[in-house]
Amino acid sequence: MNGLMMQKQLLISSLIVHADRHHGDTEIVSRRVEGDIHRYTFRDCHRRARQMAGALSRLGVQLSDRIGTLAWNGYRHLELYYGVSGMGAILHTINPRLHEDQVAYIANHAEDQYIFFDLSFLPLIQAVAGHCKTVKAFIAMTDQAHMPKNAGIDKLLCYEDLIAQGLPDYTWQALDEEAASTLCYTSGTTGDPKGVLYSHRSSLLHTYAAALPDALNCSARDTILPVVPMFHVNAWGLPYIACMVGAKLVFPGPALDGKSLYELLEAEQVTLSAGVPTVWQGLLGYLEEKGQQFSSMKRTIIGGATCPPAMLRKFQEAYGVAVLHAWGMTELSPMGTVGALKTKHLAMSADERRAVQSKQGRALFGIDMKIVGPDGNELSWDGATSGDLLVRGPWVVREYFKSAGGDPLQRDHAAQGWFPTGDVATIDADGFMQITDRSKDVIKSGGEWIGSIDLENIAMAHPAVSQAACIAAKHAKWDERPLLIVVRKPQAQLERDELLAFYEGKIAKWWTPDDVIFVDAIPLGATGKIQKNRLREQFGDHLIGRRP
Ligand code: AMP
Repeated sequence: MNGLMMQKQLLISSLIVHADRHHGDTEIVSRRVEGDIHRYTFRDCHRRARQMAGALSRLGVQLSDRIGTLAWNGYRHLELYYGVSGMGAILHTINPRLHEDQVAYIANHAEDQYIFFDLSFLPLIQAVAGHCKTVKAFIAMTDQAHMPKNAGIDKLLCYEDLIAQGLPDYTWQALDEEAASTLCYTSGTTGDPKGVLYSHRSSLLHTYAAALPDALNCSARDTILPVVPMFHVNAWGLPYIACMVGAKLVFPGPALDGKSLYELLEAEQVTLSAGVPTVWQGLLGYLEEKGQQFSSMKRTIIGGATCPPAMLRKFQEAYGVAVLHAWGMTELSPMGTVGALKTKHLAMSADERRAVQSKQGRALFGIDMKIVGPDGNELSWDGATSGDLLVRGPWVVREYFKSAGGDPLQRDHAAQGWFPTGDVATIDADGFMQITDRSKDVIKSGGEWIGSIDLENIAMAHPAVSQAACIAAKHAKWDERPLLIVVRKPQAQLERDELLAFYEGKIAKWWTPDDVIFVDAIPLGATGKIQKNRLREQFGDHLIGRRP
């Protein structure tokens, strides 16, 4: 016997409809590429998103057509989030920090029909336009007054003109919830970037789960500033969550330096923010230099890479901002785990609590996870045994876009219903997962794992260290040994022996890095993560030929 409840499809458009009806006067504030601050409400956003949907219909956009964006976090990008997906087309957010060849590859692979872009990315559009085979026109996300002159791009349209031609009484498509809504490419795996195609249903379920108190804990009393870009896994779902709960949204546009972020956080009285550790380093550096404090920030979500315990401590102790350490992947829409404490942790000392919070956290309801050994057998949740982390759930990728069944590894595990994350982790008895390494980026010394992340965290806790990366360097005796690459803080004095002595007592002696190389800068990828493969290429042979 079936239940007798209404069959209502879970659609992305329902989020903006809800925000308009129940939080219509809640503000959306954006720092624009043009330089000024723009304000309007969810009601305005809904009206303009429908106009945009109508305009795209007039242009001939069909169900499931891919529409690309190369844009910062801002209100026009939000209108496209709802306008494009709501009309049944697929929003394809492209990472503008990628090399132009990769941008063209991705646009062609996705067969984008139109590409919207912020004016900052005009040079990138000029470079790729001739190579994007399926694109019918490029749309500059600005008004007539700011349209580029003599841009040399065939078929250049103006966003505000398009909106003006739209239909304000457009009604959202009654779609099947399994219909594709959004497409993101990830270069976190080897080979060409791979497309992850979300559905309306997977996006809505992810939104429900990610908003919960033990996840990102969002409510109508929050003002949310996503620093994480809307081109990086939908800003971790925050543009959807804000509509679901009625939170005010603040978009930083292109200004992601410590000073600009701090000023916006304060001016708009932001309560919750989210971003990768490297962004927070800039903000914390600015606060320290200016001796400033936050007046409204209560929580910050740190994810995308390990949150160094020193950063967690600083946010919590020096600035009274609670840190939520989160782990996810493009393939997981992206939220998988969040380090929210349980009641039993509240009685612990601050140090013990921070050790729990430093882990990547507990699985959201909807995500099932396990760790397995090389034989594929599940390993115990003892907080010490590490293995390959596998996940499954309704917002986990089944196969990549146009992958014809996925790569062999993908097919193997997918056949058993699990997605192999490529991360290596432990899980403790309370269900807290901790990433110890990545299967493509691990240090195996004499047959034993060494966690490069632990070694980096210790280095990052040294007051003279600005950035640290630990790589597996080839070694004559041990096969691999850890090698530390370090950027010193400006004017700081620090030498190899002093830094290596800093490890004493903090880890097993044999884990201590064999050597330290000081550099001016560590290469970062498009999403701000350290490019270990480049460091391995450069320094991987450093220990060869040394005495064992
Ligand atoms: P992306 O798809 O670009 O978000 O990258 C996902 C990968 O980033 C994961 O598989 C992890 O290797 C890494 N990652 C994400 N969040 C964390 C975290 N909190 N700690 C450590 N690594 C993380």
